[in-house]
Amino acid sequence: MGQQDPALSVVVPMFNEEGVLPLLAERLRAVLDGLAEPYEVVAVDDGSTDATAAGLRGLRERWPQLRVVRLRRNSGHQAALIAGLMRARGGYVVSIDADLQDPPETIADMLALARAEKLDIVYGVRGDRSSDTAFKRLTAGAYYRLMRRLVGKQVPAQAGDFRLLSRAAVEALRDLPERTPVLRLVVPWLGFPSGEVHFLRAERAAGRTKYPFSRMLALAVESVTSFSAAPLRVATWLGLLGVAVCALLVIAVIVAYALGHTVIGWPSILLAVLFLGAVQLLCLGLLGEYVARIYTAVQARPAYFIASDSDPAETDPGDTA
Ligand code: UDP
Ligand code: MG
Repeated sequence: MGQQDPALSVVVPMFNEEGVLPLLAERLRAVLDGLAEPYEVVAVDDGSTDATAAGLRGLRERWPQLRVVRLRRNSGHQAALIAGLMRARGGYVVSIDADLQDPPETIADMLALARAEKLDIVYGVRGDRSSDTAFKRLTAGAYYRLMRRLVGKQVPAQAGDFRLLSRAAVEALRDLPERTPVLRLVVPWLGFPSGEVHFLRAERAAGRTKYPFSRMLALAVESVTSFSAAPLRVATWLGLLGVAVCALLVIAVIVAYALGHTVIGWPSILLAVLFLGAVQLLCLGLLGEYVARIYTAVQARPAYFIASDSDPAETDPGDTA
């Protein structure tokens, strides 16, 4: 960290947020100026097609701590967030939505908690989602349950992308070979000491959601496939099931034959079809196992992170950080 680096960076991804921009600037600036510490705001304009870019230009004239990073085209919330995180220079970096659903006032609490308890990660946890639709609450609930099964209990339920990261945590993210990590899963997986700050999720201040159902579904699929090869193994289990059913049928056919209830030709055809289907599924599953191995190799995630070493001269070839 250089001499003139700010104590705090606030990363705000925004896509077509002309409506909330003035409100956001007002509330965010009040909070950040109140901290009486050097800070920067990294506004990531995710290829907005409305007056967001112009609005940001106007704000910059009166707000020297505002930095604007513009993406060439709309790349999505996660990508915009990562772009901002990678460029942030602060000792602590907070990411926050532009629409004021995450209250900027909570940033001060996050910073205080991180410093008081020496935490590298502070999650903003939505205490109450009554401002979201029943559908969003239902799907989000299912999403977090699934993710906690896949990644582990360290994934906090109801924590979105409103969070604080220390410089060390940002560097750890930057060192990951992955280009598009699903942040809300990868951040807990990094294993840093973390805490939570609860807040009430407000209504969107202006404009409408940029997260239609299709994008929510895409995030869910990406989350599962970026942390689990389980879907690739479904074929193996189906194949084994097929073989088991096949075996039971063979017994049933023999019993039926002994009792003289056989229709000539029927059992052999059915068994052949079933058996071939099961073998095909097993082979697909086998392929899946290899694809899964290739996939984890390509991800090249480190298997572990060293928290500390009493003898730092000892170099560990396994630690990539
Ligand atoms: N966003 C973005 N790029 C996109 C979609 C959304 O940068 O392609 C930003 C958006 O401007 C907002 C944040 O991501 O600051 C969260 O989006 P939104 O509030 O629409 O999602 P919701 O709260 O409805 O889930
Ligand atoms: Mg929102």
